[in-house]
Amino acid sequence: MQNQVISKKDLAGFVDELIKSKAAGEVIGIKTQGNKFNFGSLKSAAELRLDYDISLLPPKKYFFPQTETVLKYEAGANPRVEPVVEEKSMCIIGVHPFDIRGILLFDAVYGGNNPDPNYFLKRNNTVIIGVDCLKPNPKAFAASMGTAATDEGFDLMLTDIGDSYFVTVGTTKGENLLKKHAKAKDAKGGDLEKRDKARNDALKNYKVSLKMKPEEIPALLDANWESKVFHDKSETCFSCGSCVMVCPTCVCFDVQDDMALSLKGGERYRRWDGCMLTEFAKVASGENFREHKEQRFRHRMYRKGKYLVERYKYLGCVGCGRCATHCLAEIASPAETFNLIKEAK
Ligand code: SF4
Ligand code: SF4
Repeated sequence: MQNQVISKKDLAGFVDELIKSKAAGEVIGIKTQGNKFNFGSLKSAAELRLDYDISLLPPKKYFFPQTETVLKYEAGANPRVEPVVEEKSMCIIGVHPFDIRGILLFDAVYGGNNPDPNYFLKRNNTVIIGVDCLKPNPKAFAASMGTAATDEGFDLMLTDIGDSYFVTVGTTKGENLLKKHAKAKDAKGGDLEKRDKARNDALKNYKVSLKMKPEEIPALLDANWESKVFHDKSETCFSCGSCVMVCPTCVCFDVQDDMALSLKGGERYRRWDGCMLTEFAKVASGENFREHKEQRFRHRMYRKGKYLVERYKYLGCVGCGRCATHCLAEIASPAETFNLIKEAK
């Protein structure tokens, strides 16, 4: 389908129609939360705030909830185990390109030879309506990570071009929703120019930049395992884990059993975990193979800049700036660390 243009009024009508018809399941969108923004269930298009910078938590929470029961069991003479897999249809409106890149990384990590059913029964039933980020967060550096725009990972992508949104059509699913529920019209050459101008202007609004090409990061890290930067930067780390909990590319979880007091059964659940927490690398014998905060800090940077790209082809950082925004010690930004290592050479 040719790309479309939809007036702001008609976009609101489209969103309200999706909410009413449930044509794509539960409608989730970006809304205000206090003086910040977060994704949540939409009751009406009036709640939607597509002009935001970053959400408190990335949209990954809809495919990979913070806590998720994965099985229930009964104990006793006839023990029984039952997997718990929740299937859900959703339409998430207002996902920024860098968060879509985060979801693509998740798809790679949770896919492969042994796809995770809990993740994919939600992910595959979700329509993603993205929006270009025209007012980036002051700590974001997506422009220099190459993640400020994306050609993949969305069903529809909106770009604010004034009174209207340019709608880049990504999939047949997106196209069908538009055809059936929206009043949109074919985009003209001038509209495409407006979209590209809006995107290019947005790149100039990024305040933080990486002083190298993103593809140079793995080699930089390879050559600097002993860098003093890891020690110096980590000195003030609280090991609070905020930087990993808010990150759209942090995929780790811990698994725990919760046995009922009656001892008749219980459930097993997984919940988000992160490598900046002190217990993360502690194993059964009591050994902690990243006991010191410098080791954890370095590990996180290697995971962002080297390990994931070597295994899954995506860098483990999309430059959203959430970690830097939430770090009380003001040390969490990977761009800042990579730049310091480069400058120290
Ligand atoms: S880097 Fe910052 S956010 Fe991350 S664990 Fe340390 S203090 Fe907390
Ligand atoms: S490491 Fe920080 S900037 Fe990079 S994706 Fe995660 S939260 Fe965003």
